[in-house]
Amino acid sequence: SCTANGVADALRAAASAIAEHRVELIELDRAIGDADHGENLNRGFAAIVSALDSAVPDTPGAVLKLAATTLISKVGGAAGPLYGTAFLRAATKVGAVSELDAAAVAEALRAAVEGVQARGKAVEGDKTMVDALLPATAAAEEAARVEGADVAAVLTAAADAAAKGAESTVDLVARKGRASYLGERSAGHLDPGARSSALLLRALAEAAR
Ligand code: ADP
Ligand code: MG
Ligand code: MG
Repeated sequence: SCTANGVADALRAAASAIAEHRVELIELDRAIGDADHGENLNRGFAAIVSALDSAVPDTPGAVLKLAATTLISKVGGAAGPLYGTAFLRAATKVGAVSELDAAAVAEALRAAVEGVQARGKAVEGDKTMVDALLPATAAAEEAARVEGADVAAVLTAAADAAAKGAESTVDLVARKGRASYLGERSAGHLDPGARSSALLLRALAEAAR
């Protein structure tokens, strides 16, 4: 199970992963967007780390809420409000419990992707972060149903499915976000937001082990 400090450490790991892949995300967004995704996310996750350095909130939900408000205020673009909503819905879903178990993590992921879809109106196949997050959530729910499953097992299943889902965006034509302005020319490129979702889930999974 995962305490407030565990969630904080996982977010620090996520921030490191985004910093490491900043240029890659910029280049993916340069191909089909406006080349700011890596910079946007790096600014937001660096701000989360700064906030956690001053004080780690008391509960996992409060840590997730801090991440949400930081992303909403610092990231901008499409991804800021979308990831902000994801963390906010996850925070609300987990409530005030002091530790997250495997089932709670799967439920939080479901709430997060529902928030992204409510806000951005993307469905599976639109070549967005949803193409990583939806299969990740389904895999997390399946893993959480296994007897004795822990948080690491749930997040690892989610990260594996997100990686596959992100790869599946290469062949798709974008129907949401800036990449949709390119029409058919958006095909043949990995979606930056799907890639960042896969990176984030992998970092969270590795932090949970
Ligand atoms: P912007 O496009 O405003 O510059 P970013 O570059 O930070 O924002 O983020 C782009 C990513 O946001 C896309 O790769 C895609 O995954 C995601 N995205 C854009 N619009 C939507 C949407 N309506 N629903 C879900 N995800 C979206
Ligand atoms: Mg962009
Ligand atoms: Mg932009």
